[in-house]
Amino acid sequence: MTGKQHIVVIGAGYAGLAAARRLAGRAGTARITVVDARAEFVERVRLHQQVAGQRLRRWNLAEELERKGIRFVQARATRIDAVGKRIELDGGDCVDYDVLIYALGSLADTGGVPGAAEFAKSVATPEVSSWTVNGGTIAVVGAGATGIELAAEIAESQRDSRVVLLSADEPGAWLSAKAVAHIRAVLEKLGVEIRADVKVVEVTADGVRLAGGEFVGAETTVWTTGFAVPELAARAGLAVDGAGRVLTDETLRSISHPEIYAAGDSAVIAGPGERSLRMACATALPTGKYAADVVAARLRGREPGDLRFRYVLQCISLGRRDAVVQLLHADDTPARTVLRGRLGARVKELIVRGAAAAAGLR
Ligand SMILES: Cc1cc2nc3c(=O)[nH]c(=O)nc-3n(C[C@H](O)[C@H](O)[C@H](O)COP(=O)(O)OP(=O)(O)OC[C@H]3O[C@@H](n4cnc5c(N)ncnc54)[C@H](O)[C@@H]3O)c2cc1C
Repeated sequence: MTGKQHIVVIGAGYAGLAAARRLAGRAGTARITVVDARAEFVERVRLHQQVAGQRLRRWNLAEELERKGIRFVQARATRIDAVGKRIELDGGDCVDYDVLIYALGSLADTGGVPGAAEFAKSVATPEVSSWTVNGGTIAVVGAGATGIELAAEIAESQRDSRVVLLSADEPGAWLSAKAVAHIRAVLEKLGVEIRADVKVVEVTADGVRLAGGEFVGAETTVWTTGFAVPELAARAGLAVDGAGRVLTDETLRSISHPEIYAAGDSAVIAGPGERSLRMACATALPTGKYAADVVAARLRGREPGDLRFRYVLQCISLGRRDAVVQLLHADDTPARTVLRGRLGARVKELIVRGAAAAAGLR
């Protein structure tokens, strides 16, 4: 690659911002442009707090990026022309690239169960999290990290509400026994009704139906069972997995399009053992940064070093006063140590703040 290259980052979430921040100052004479549909960055990892009635801080993306000399285009990317190396935007404009960092993240996955897309609410993105809890029964479907955090947050702040957490597995089942026991104890103390052996087969306007026929009435149903990814990469003909995530090599380069790199939730990135790295802020930040390092190295005609990455801990908030911070082995399996209670909550809060700082937000 030679000078005056144009590096375009699509997606200004944790991965895209970490990449852009890292590129600024390292990419020589190359121009850097970030494209995002949103005008503001909102901490996605706090959206469960927002629906429980808390106000979240917002950062103006144009100001944050332009002060680092990065051009920001607020527009929705509607198509990638991977042959012409061009991004088409919703206003009709286009952005040409020499190198593209694809960091479009993820969104709610409500497909699969009848009625979920139509009747269930979500906290997956800011766009779908502008609702707030208004009493009555709230059925939270899914007891992964998001479902646990949401159920605890609502139960803590909305004492008049009845919160029912519905899942096929024990909340936090992938963590250590100590963490699982603490999650259950805190949820129960907050009054959350845990149904950990059920399968929701239908969502209606007034509740959910379980396999076996039982109906659980609820004024609000929230779907938290997983994330889907935008279809742009698949539609552009990039090599993707069954979910539409970009398949990458060990330098995060698309295996089908060498001028495209991918990071964060919308990329398949080899992790420890046979597993790919999980969709997490904890993955998005280091992989965004590494994608930038690779691009900057190759601009200078060098080969990049390896992605040095390991998970250290996983934190799950349990309202504002409690959390579990599960320490992890290098292969992402739970270690023995778990921080709990107020200490856990303080550590989790510091990590969330640190994530915004690592994305370059003041
Ligand atoms: C409630 C909640 C709590 C969470 N808690 C944690 C946690 O404690 N720890 C953790 O590690 N992870 C957590 N996560 C997961 C974490 O938020 C994601 O894994 C992380 O945000 C992924 O970062 P990303 O940069 O890949 O994508 P995103 O943060 O999703 O950013 C993608 C960006 O792309 C933009 N975009 C998408 N499509 C287009 C388009 N067509 N055109 C232009 N722009 C587009 C979006 O506007 C967005 O700004 C949580 C998620 C949720 C919902």
